[in-house]
Amino acid sequence: MKNECSIVRDLIPLYSEDMVSADTAAFIEEHLKGCEACMNEYQKTKDPKPIQNSNDAAPLKNLNRKMKIKKINIIAMTAVFVVLFAVSVFVKLSAPIYIPYSEGIVTLEKYGDKGIILNFDESVTDFDYRVYDDPYDSSICYCDIEAWTTIWDRWFSKRNENLSAVVEGRSKPMFISYVPNDETENICIAEYDPYAEDQIEAGADTEHAITLPRLALGYYLIIAVSALAIMIIVWFVTRKKKQIRIWAERLGLYPAAYIISHFIISGICWATNSLTRDFSSIILLSVLLYGGLLLAHNIWYLRKENFYNP
Ligand SMILES: [Zn+2]
Repeated sequence: MKNECSIVRDLIPLYSEDMVSADTAAFIEEHLKGCEACMNEYQKTKDPKPIQNSNDAAPLKNLNRKMKIKKINIIAMTAVFVVLFAVSVFVKLSAPIYIPYSEGIVTLEKYGDKGIILNFDESVTDFDYRVYDDPYDSSICYCDIEAWTTIWDRWFSKRNENLSAVVEGRSKPMFISYVPNDETENICIAEYDPYAEDQIEAGADTEHAITLPRLALGYYLIIAVSALAIMIIVWFVTRKKKQIRIWAERLGLYPAAYIISHFIISGICWATNSLTRDFSSIILLSVLLYGGLLLAHNIWYLRKENFYNP
């Protein structure tokens, strides 16, 4: 027996690589069945090198897949942050800087009985105006003018001509005010009478209105916070229904993206003097952010599944 053992042990490396004849293999198998010492020796040569065996490449493939997912994850997150940063910088650069009133910032010219022509000075790079009837006296109306510039315009934009515009009249006297948007009083700069022969009269300082910042952003923020709260409640209630839970997460990410975007654009401020612009910036940013969050959410689930079923 001793003699047979040493022959078998010499052959084991060849046997485990399938490099022996069928007769030799049968002889070795027969011996291994009856000899525990040689069987142990055979197991030892088999165990230490499973990775070299091509049938056992699954862990490597799995590692490869995990690394790929990690790579995609890093690329996606980087892209999201680059886009967020770019949009926030753009929003800051193009945010209106309202110009306080000074004589000559806007001059008015009568345009027959059709209305008035506004001429802004060179510090103004954009403006807006609003014509509305007096809520208590329909025989008169108002025109509020606001004018601003932006950091972007100050740095990059060179204008050859000053801005001007025609404000259509409403066939009744119109009181024209300048809105400084800094919570100081609006300045009544002129009074326009379409049927008077003469030019526009200088403003009789009768009105003491302040155009207040609009608060709608605060309401939208409250709606977003409520929607997020509802989704969190749904998430807690549907503890055992995985599919509903995933959908609650996907839906809840939008209000979360909106809230983050609100704070990026407006800070902790609810009030804005340029509602449409701030609101559209928040929507744009939140949609981009939502795309990124959804992607991250999907990748997170993919990794989790991979982790439990490698
Ligand atoms: Zn033996």
